[in-house]
Amino acid sequence: MKPAPFAYRKARSLDEAVALVGANADARLLAGGQSLMATLNMRLSAPSLLVDINGIDGLDRIAVEGGTVTIGALTRHAQAERSETIARHAPLIAKAMPHIAHPSIRNRGTVGGSIAFADPAAELPACLIALGGAVDVYGPKGARRIAADDFFTGLFETALAADEVLTEIRVPAATAGTRIGFAELARRHGDYAIVGLAAAARGKGTALSDVRLAFFGVGDRPVRARKAEAALERGDIDAAVGALDLAPHDDLQATAAEKRHLAGVLLRRVAKQLMEAA
Ligand code: FAD
Repeated sequence: MKPAPFAYRKARSLDEAVALVGANADARLLAGGQSLMATLNMRLSAPSLLVDINGIDGLDRIAVEGGTVTIGALTRHAQAERSETIARHAPLIAKAMPHIAHPSIRNRGTVGGSIAFADPAAELPACLIALGGAVDVYGPKGARRIAADDFFTGLFETALAADEVLTEIRVPAATAGTRIGFAELARRHGDYAIVGLAAAARGKGTALSDVRLAFFGVGDRPVRARKAEAALERGDIDAAVGALDLAPHDDLQATAAEKRHLAGVLLRRVAKQLMEAA
């Protein structure tokens, strides 16, 4: 199918992008286009204007400053996957990257687009939650920062206003005691996950503290499993699996019961990664 007709503008600055989307109630920002163009082609959405942000300088910066890793919104998945800075300072994101779609999609799709799109089965939103990160956005009133825990508000819904641009994501840089774990089950490598789990903790030997478990594919947004986190902090993997209180729905990939079972399988794998990492 072809998309409904739309106008196209290429913004050269954040202020221009914000002004354009602010002046057109049904305008949409265009980043990598890997999700947006599919929804347009299927006529799931029909904005009258696309505001292309690919011409805005400086939105693809990857940096480590003051113990925080910042990844610009226009960083392509492939660029993040190859980044030595991310591999060293944000290893959870590096570990998740190869699971996102296929190489051709990773060449165009952006980190900011993935976070803004907020697919509940996507890897990066869960990583952001597991790491206790934040999102920087820019709008008509200037810049603001939103904690990851407050950012994902529902199915494909976020705390972003329609006239705001996501400019970068921020996660704490890994330190000596940082432990990370990641696993997902998908029908084929690169497909959206049936169930996935991104995790972070602090570790000393096999003892864990500050455990954060973010499941994806099991709800309308990434889901923290707080009772399981507490059980892992007591070193009890069986209790953690028993404490999982996820409430997934049936979808095209699996029933809710299958998803609950798979979540327990993934939790055992990820708990071992967290406890064994040196
Ligand atoms: P776009 O498609 O350009 O935009 C998506 C939405 O986000 C739009 O509403 C747009 O307005 C908004 N947006 C984009 N950037 C910003 C910004 N900076 N500020 C505010 N709003 C913004 N993703 C996964 O995570 N895991 C997968 O396994 C996976 N598999 C895929 C398989 C296929 C076949 C395809 C086509 C896509 C898949 N994706 C997957 C999605 C891919 O990661 C997308 O690139 C990503 O979700 C959106 O990024 P984008 O840059 O392409 O955004």
